[in-house]
Amino acid sequence: MIIVMKADLPRDSAELKQIVALAESFPGVKTQVHVVQGATRSLTEVHLHGSTGVIPTKPFEEFEGVEKVVRITEKFRAIGRHEQLDAVGFEYNGVAISQETLHVFPGLCAVDNPRNVERTFAALQQFGIVTARAGAYKPRTSPYDFQGHGAACLPYVFELAGKHGVKVIAMEVTHESHIAEIQSALRSSGNATGVMLQIGTRNAQNFELLKAVGAQTELPVLFKRGMGITLEESLNACEYVASGGNRRIVFGLRGMKTNLGDPHRNFVDFAHVPVVKRLTRLPVCIDPSHSVGRRSLAPDGLNDIFHVTAQAVIAGANMVLVDVHPAPKEALCDGPQALTLEELPGYLEDVAIARRAYVERVARAEKARERA
Ligand code: PEP
Ligand code: MN
Repeated sequence: MIIVMKADLPRDSAELKQIVALAESFPGVKTQVHVVQGATRSLTEVHLHGSTGVIPTKPFEEFEGVEKVVRITEKFRAIGRHEQLDAVGFEYNGVAISQETLHVFPGLCAVDNPRNVERTFAALQQFGIVTARAGAYKPRTSPYDFQGHGAACLPYVFELAGKHGVKVIAMEVTHESHIAEIQSALRSSGNATGVMLQIGTRNAQNFELLKAVGAQTELPVLFKRGMGITLEESLNACEYVASGGNRRIVFGLRGMKTNLGDPHRNFVDFAHVPVVKRLTRLPVCIDPSHSVGRRSLAPDGLNDIFHVTAQAVIAGANMVLVDVHPAPKEALCDGPQALTLEELPGYLEDVAIARRAYVERVARAEKARERA
């Protein structure tokens, strides 16, 4: 059961304390108070855990400060909308991320050397982008492929991010120990930037890793769906992060592994953008690079990575994780799918066109609803 309090309630409100005490007076019921950032306001919610089925809603509804009491369904207990809950977003290191916002995170699939990191971050700064990707720990199919520089590259990645105004870097972790390595390197850099911990598709059901990123609340999490499991299984896996206590989660789509998507690297699944937004309270990310896997031009002169990005943005995607590299031929990982820095401004313009179309589509739908 979730008790949603009226907007902007002070955290130390006496009513909140009474509600928590009342809830905990029922046998076996525990509570957690979450302050969540909604689209336009911050909300306080009291989450009741345990045998809540027998608890009446009325005594809670009678409190002045309560907006509504929602009985949660079994499905997606922590991340689900349960038909009545608003989406939740969050703010991290000055960047607001929700089902209403859009941020592009361009960057290196794998960090190779300080010069390429600097060239990439400098280009982002030039285009006013404060969000990036940078892979330090790489999960590779073959043990003989470049495995990423790991903790060794973190000091220069964070320092250069700070120098070029990058506020959030999406960075994959493949082992629990990487979380502490990142936290410690961030501190050593004087918190020059921030990190969103990325769970890659190969670890979508690595439940111990999911519990570990969920148990810390310092860094937000980008959870990428599993490439060979159903959407529902991925959403359940994502519950491991949220139920651990970390609610600052973005859900990522990155394509499904099947030959039916050929010649793309994965079968593009961006039709699920509105589905995830409807089923959960989470912002939705798309990764067009790992979905498409190559820079191929369509006859209209636009490359497939531009096309699938636009398809997702026009459907309301909130985050775009995209590979770029100053010299894709020299990249140590996934060069064929990286956009060049010269292509980046055109890509960002294309994203802006699709976003404007999305905003216009939402406004039209809203007007139609008002008339109905
Ligand atoms: C990545 O983003 O670097 C990556 C490996 O993606 P995925 O886990 O989706 O394959
Ligand atoms: Mn990659």
